[in-house]
Amino acid sequence: MSTGHLTIDLDAIAANWQALDALTGVPTAAVVKADGYGCHAPTVAARLLQAGATKFFVAVAKEGAALRHALGEGPEIYVFSGVCAGDAPLILEHALIPCLNSAEQADRFLDTGLPFAIQLDTGMNRLGMEADEWAAVRDEAIRRGPKLVMSHLACADEPGHPMNAGQLATFHEMTEGLTCPRSLAATGGILLGPDYHFDLTRPGVGLYGGDPFAGARPVVTLDLPVIQTRAVAAGETVGYGNMWRATRDSRVATVSAGYADGLIRAMGAGTVQLFAGDTPCPLIGRVSMDLITVDVTDAGTLPPALTLLNARQTVDDLAAAAGTIGYEILTSLGARYERRYEGLQ
Ligand SMILES: *Cc1c(COP(=O)(O)O)cnc(C)c1O
Repeated sequence: MSTGHLTIDLDAIAANWQALDALTGVPTAAVVKADGYGCHAPTVAARLLQAGATKFFVAVAKEGAALRHALGEGPEIYVFSGVCAGDAPLILEHALIPCLNSAEQADRFLDTGLPFAIQLDTGMNRLGMEADEWAAVRDEAIRRGPKLVMSHLACADEPGHPMNAGQLATFHEMTEGLTCPRSLAATGGILLGPDYHFDLTRPGVGLYGGDPFAGARPVVTLDLPVIQTRAVAAGETVGYGNMWRATRDSRVATVSAGYADGLIRAMGAGTVQLFAGDTPCPLIGRVSMDLITVDVTDAGTLPPALTLLNARQTVDDLAAAAGTIGYEILTSLGARYERRYEGLQ
């Protein structure tokens, strides 16, 4: 093999969904935007449908169309960005449910009589209607019966952050007296406790094994083929910019994957390892576009591929080394990898 193999454990995704579902007494949707956080939305969603999920969220209508194709009629597919200009045909054709974010979107859609949700801004200032807009739209929207009224938390990954309680209070104020289902919590919000659960939760990253769901089962394994190994004498350097210099006579493996495959270049300066079987081997030198280099001096007989992501080194470990978050590691997983699925049914 010449490209990396990405193995996605669908049973682990289903188990993570079930574990998050068990933390609340309310239905649990599944967020599969950005191609299912890099894990392939249609495959992930089909597995979660079997596990019991019936409601899915994507970012944009185009993603919803692909998902409808995979799931068939029945499951609800919500679109966070709502109905943007030109989206109406996709929304109609694929029976998507837009989360209307503004009075303008409400004007564009409510008259169709089709199912819709409402997204409110409770302080994040990113998507959703603010209080005055909501006041103008509210009577008409309620008369037409939204499937859901939702908002999103800005700081849910920090349980002690005062923003959480503030947004909760604002959400209560803005939705007081409504009888339709309400939703506030993504992964972080589920972990904040029952006050945040309302009638539906919307976890994303926790399904894919990422923080802040500490109990998550790891989902992705990434095996990268060794293309070449060489002896590097003490004092010689490896890679662009001579960033690594051998302090002893070493053996260096060149491995097929680089920043074009989502291996964030900044992680080169971190503490990343690749595993040769059970033996951790340090990533050395700069991450280049298609290649990385690994010190395998202590590895013994080298397997044909080294493992970058597994239960010992997770997406969050890699994120920490690259100065980013697990979400970015997941959604950067490269298109060049061969994808394999465990637990396909
Ligand atoms: C991405 C997103 C989610 C899922 O968030 P996670 O932190 O991945 O669980 C839920 N709701 C909205 C509005 C989102 O944008």
